[in-house]
Amino acid sequence: MTASTHAETVSFEKRKICETMWINSLLALHKEVSDPLKPMVINGIDFLYSSVKPAEPVVSDDGGQPGIRRANNKVGFVTLFHADAQLHPFFKGWIDHARYSYTEDTTSIMVPPHRLTPRWRGILMLHELLHAQYHKENVFRDRVDPHYAEEQSIYTDELKIVEDIYGEPYAQFIANEAPKLLEEIEDGRIPRKALAKVANRGLETVLNDTQYEHEFNLRRGATIMHLGYEALALLNISADETRAQFTRSVERDAGSTVWLGSTGSEINQAA
Ligand SMILES: [Zn+2]
Repeated sequence: MTASTHAETVSFEKRKICETMWINSLLALHKEVSDPLKPMVINGIDFLYSSVKPAEPVVSDDGGQPGIRRANNKVGFVTLFHADAQLHPFFKGWIDHARYSYTEDTTSIMVPPHRLTPRWRGILMLHELLHAQYHKENVFRDRVDPHYAEEQSIYTDELKIVEDIYGEPYAQFIANEAPKLLEEIEDGRIPRKALAKVANRGLETVLNDTQYEHEFNLRRGATIMHLGYEALALLNISADETRAQFTRSVERDAGSTVWLGSTGSEINQAA
């Protein structure tokens, strides 16, 4: 990306303040989880401090593709604001969800401007940091479907944290509801409708203590994934590739990230 201008509407200072808020959420998450899960969060914090720098969205003067200002070989951390969507329509599609994205020039974590509790800010941050770390370390790049191999691994870890935090009522809900999904399986897939129906019951019982719409969707998405993984486990299916296919089907069937608050960037997965 050559000659470029950056977003005048949102100061870099403001983005840095937001970055601090996200980092603090991760530190709070570390305090909140029980001992066996702390190393997972510490790993995320270490990666954050060693490899991530605040960055800015930019639009190119020469009509090139808008993107994220490169942060010296670091992963750029960008808090998007609604003003950024006005900067260029390109950012409009990026603003709704946290994501990890990469191009030839940049790797970036973008986080949404929506209100979230610190707890879910921490969970979301850890999710995207893991994408950035696995990508940097080429952990899943040799797999048939690298993005979804990575995604299923990250969800698996994320859901351990979710279960740890929400405790027995949540674990009980998953254990009670997952077997009911088995009779819904069609052609080796659990239809989205069945997952949604069960996840909605979960929101009524164990997940309804948030006032933020975006967080509600995030938690619903995580619950859907959790139920599906549990159903696969009941079928004695534990192969990473099958779990990855399932992860892909849930995200693809959903048709949009409204279902799952956090995904990698589809646009940039071709690389
Ligand atoms: Zn993801």
